[in-house]
Amino acid sequence: MSHSRPTVITGNWKMYKTIDEAVRFVKELAPLVQESTAQVYLAVPFTAIHATAEVAKSTKIVIGAQNMNDASEGAFTGEIAARMLKEAGAKFVILGHSERRKIFHETNSFINKKVKRALIEGLQPILCVGETKEEREQNKTAEVLESQISQSLADLSAEQLASLILAYEPVWAIGTDLAATPEMAQKEHEFCRSIVAKNWGSDFAEHLVIQYGGSVKPDNAKALLEQPDIDGLLVGGASLSVDSFSKIVNSQKI
Ligand code: PEP
Repeated sequence: MSHSRPTVITGNWKMYKTIDEAVRFVKELAPLVQESTAQVYLAVPFTAIHATAEVAKSTKIVIGAQNMNDASEGAFTGEIAARMLKEAGAKFVILGHSERRKIFHETNSFINKKVKRALIEGLQPILCVGETKEEREQNKTAEVLESQISQSLADLSAEQLASLILAYEPVWAIGTDLAATPEMAQKEHEFCRSIVAKNWGSDFAEHLVIQYGGSVKPDNAKALLEQPDIDGLLVGGASLSVDSFSKIVNSQKI
């Protein structure tokens, strides 16, 4: 089936780069990706959002955050609200990243509250889902993906989810140099799209951007993007260098 989904490449910097390093990166990256047909997103540390968003204003780079709290505001020491991110210049937020799920014990129901808050405040959510190595070995991949998608997006209509991006990130592929093969990733993307179609209708599913994440590098980006259901990439380690990230952005779908 033909579709008209954009290609969206997101860099996830995790807990790397000071404000100064981040601003220099955006200034160097901007001219290298200006002609790209892909949309270029950078999820920077909270402290760097404002300064990078200012520098990115005249470029095609979109700045976002890596996490947020589900409450509108309140006595939650150390947390950050969607409204604060928005004011600082963030346009999107990564939610449910496997590092948040594993290290910070985030559950699907908590992630669901965050997705709702992000949408209320007008931040585009990038929802991450993916199975661990053990779950894959136990043939539980489908079950895990289905419950992560349906529970993290529970009670939301296709209309409310219009801006959503889904990211399939097999946990065993993140930061390991063991990327899924394009065929393996395609199979899971197709499955995720079928789950979305079952819950929110095939029209919504056909328009949903699904990114692949897990050890994406300049040498595997093109083959991944050539798969019919892979509409973009979520890039960790390789987004920290202007050289490798610009190469990935410029290897977009033909
Ligand atoms: C990530 O952080 O979402 C990620 C996919 O990391 P890496 O590209 O380093 O595997």
